[in-house]
Amino acid sequence: MDRLLPKNNTQRKIIHLDMDAFYASVEMRDNPALANKALIIGQDPRQTNGHGVVATANYVARQYGVHSAMSTMKALKLVPESEIEFVKPNFEKYRVISAQIHELMYELTDQVESVALDEAYLDVTKNKLGSYSALELAIKLQKNIFKKVHLNSSFGISYNKLLAKMGSEYAKPFGRTIILPQEAKDFLALRKISDFPGIGKKTQEQLHSFSVETGADLQKLEVDFLIKHFKKMGYVIAQHAHGIDLRPVASQRKRKSIGVERTFEPNIYNQDQALTLIRNYSNQLVEKLVEKNFSAQTVVIKIRNNNFETVTRRMKLKKASRDPIEFFQSAKALFTPLEYFLKDGIRLLGLTVTDLTDTNYEEVKLDLFKTR
Ligand SMILES: [Mg+2]
Repeated sequence: MDRLLPKNNTQRKIIHLDMDAFYASVEMRDNPALANKALIIGQDPRQTNGHGVVATANYVARQYGVHSAMSTMKALKLVPESEIEFVKPNFEKYRVISAQIHELMYELTDQVESVALDEAYLDVTKNKLGSYSALELAIKLQKNIFKKVHLNSSFGISYNKLLAKMGSEYAKPFGRTIILPQEAKDFLALRKISDFPGIGKKTQEQLHSFSVETGADLQKLEVDFLIKHFKKMGYVIAQHAHGIDLRPVASQRKRKSIGVERTFEPNIYNQDQALTLIRNYSNQLVEKLVEKNFSAQTVVIKIRNNNFETVTRRMKLKKASRDPIEFFQSAKALFTPLEYFLKDGIRLLGLTVTDLTDTNYEEVKLDLFKTR
């Protein structure tokens, strides 16, 4: 049955961090009198001729059945009037806090994908703290966020985005959920199909008509069956049901370049010495690129002589690369016309690669659909 599914990757460590009732929590933080009310972030429908939707509801309001995207008119009917409180959203304020929270995320890794002001994925497989424990990092982040902005958050940790997201939903508010690779299928089996991100109302109805109610039911279905009825989305659902989600964390903060440079005292007068350095630099740059999961398409050399004359030269490669030999040969080609610098002595030599692109994890080919 698993024949058609791509090979799973359980090596990554991904955190999904989600602020708890973000907008509502911010307003409660700034006005504690709201804390015991059923607080709804959205315009009071009594002042808007019944128009408007709930942006966020606090947990008191949620106990009455109010949720995001519900019409404020309906919320007004659900909650006793003495308890309900509407506050207009202040996105300026939320954006500032969101930026503060993101700064804390970037202390852990640059591999941060923001989904909303209050929600992001972090790939901490490699991280700036050199920690092996994603749990340690996530707890640290949750604590740092509370210290800095006095707001609670929940996180889910797993080997892919789907499970990390479902994990953070699992134990809100102030949730801490970790789903290990060997637990994933059981965890998914117990979820309702409506708990799966990406399975919308219409798809849920169709699945109900096939008596599919839970993750366990999905896992029992043939992959072919799901593809037949739901096309490409069916294939995604099948993968998700089996804990497979190969999407990378698409970081928006792109590093612009990676470089090494050194000054030399005494200066360099020897061609071999210069080329050996360039070769070493190329190797070091590739190590850094691999570590950050980047490739680079432009090589830049920088030379300064004893008289502080500085020259940079750049070369664009045919395509993004992280081949040390290709970098070396390009740098050498850039260096050759500048060899006259050796006469006065080279004081500084640097090599940088730019035009960085994310190198995705195993790319899955969906040729499957072209042949059908
Ligand atoms: Mg949230």
